[in-house]
Amino acid sequence: MNADRVLNDLRELARLTGGPDGARRVCWTDEWAKARDFLRSRLDELPVEVTADAAGNLWALMTGEDEGFVIVGSHTDSVPAGGWLDGALGIFTAVETLRSRAETGTPPVGMRLVDWADEEGARFGRSLFGSSCCAGTLDPDEVRDLRDRDGERLEDVVARYGVDLDRAHESGSELRGARAYLEAHIEQGPVLESSGEPAATVLGTCGVERHAAIFTGETAHAGATPMNLRHDTFMATAQAALAIRAVGLRHEGVCTVGAATSEPGVVTAVPGRTEMLLDQRQLDPDALAAMLSEARAACERAAADHGCEVELKHIWSIPPIPFDDRLIGFARQAVQEAGGKDTAIPSGPLHDAAEMARLMPTVMIFSSSSPPVSHTKEEDTPEADLRVAIDAYGRTLDATLELAASGGLPPRE
Ligand SMILES: [Zn+2]
Repeated sequence: MNADRVLNDLRELARLTGGPDGARRVCWTDEWAKARDFLRSRLDELPVEVTADAAGNLWALMTGEDEGFVIVGSHTDSVPAGGWLDGALGIFTAVETLRSRAETGTPPVGMRLVDWADEEGARFGRSLFGSSCCAGTLDPDEVRDLRDRDGERLEDVVARYGVDLDRAHESGSELRGARAYLEAHIEQGPVLESSGEPAATVLGTCGVERHAAIFTGETAHAGATPMNLRHDTFMATAQAALAIRAVGLRHEGVCTVGAATSEPGVVTAVPGRTEMLLDQRQLDPDALAAMLSEARAACERAAADHGCEVELKHIWSIPPIPFDDRLIGFARQAVQEAGGKDTAIPSGPLHDAAEMARLMPTVMIFSSSSPPVSHTKEEDTPEADLRVAIDAYGRTLDATLELAASGGLPPRE
């Protein structure tokens, strides 16, 4: 792997579709098409067959000595005013695996790059569009009428890019012959930076439980109602939120109370209704289930303590999706050989890799994020850390190709 070439491509992409205000590669826009054109120009230099599928994903196949292929990739799209590395790092690291392979001969099994369409969901609010079409987990009726800020429908907009929403699931046929999926990405959080590590192996994507806790009490006059005669839903919510923080710490997961809205919402009234939004994540399914039941109990206790009632409404959930133990082993060794430590962490954010991990052996490698932020133009990673992640990815791929060639990763039917 030649990390210089990856860094050059990333800088060139940032020059073409970014700038002082950040990346502008929002999917289903001209700027995204421009990013794709740049990617195609790089792929055109290589002995690969480039195709687009029914869901707007871009593929580039390099055939190998044996049938089938290992998938390498990520996404070129970004959020508005986004960073230069989110998605792009995985794409141009994958390009480099093809480029360096082409220089040394035919791979033992095929390699296939994928650029997933609309990972971010920045325009219509539905993330992982291309990869979930491909994995068969996207219901067209759920997204057909989603509208962007200008009132345009998703179905109409994707059609302009050659995607017939009712046929997007045909993208799944691209996975015939797939043996494994490998993705490099920035961490987008502070874990690696805080421990001074350049890169790490990813164990899987955390399961998510998202609920609204609705506390109901009694709206009352702020002056006329003594403290001991109140049914104050904000106080119940505050008590529950603090207890839920302890739940996250106890189970080494994350619990976020992202919003709490009280009614009537004036300074002279004791709130009679408060809605609290709760997001919980953990890689271990038992721990996630325990976190949810303890959060529910905390809400009920807090409601009872303040003479209120509470109801938990389910908003959205996804189970934890663990990656493949053998590939995790390759990645852990590769990161150490590339200059990092034997660290493996779960991913809090979802990735296209989660959709692929439902179907085939999958692993990801994270580079650090420093500053530890993403989805903003401040997103960055020290060049030395990027080099470690790029090198580790190449080594992980080599080990994966070898395992595939020896029959350990059979191609999908
Ligand atoms: Zn991303």
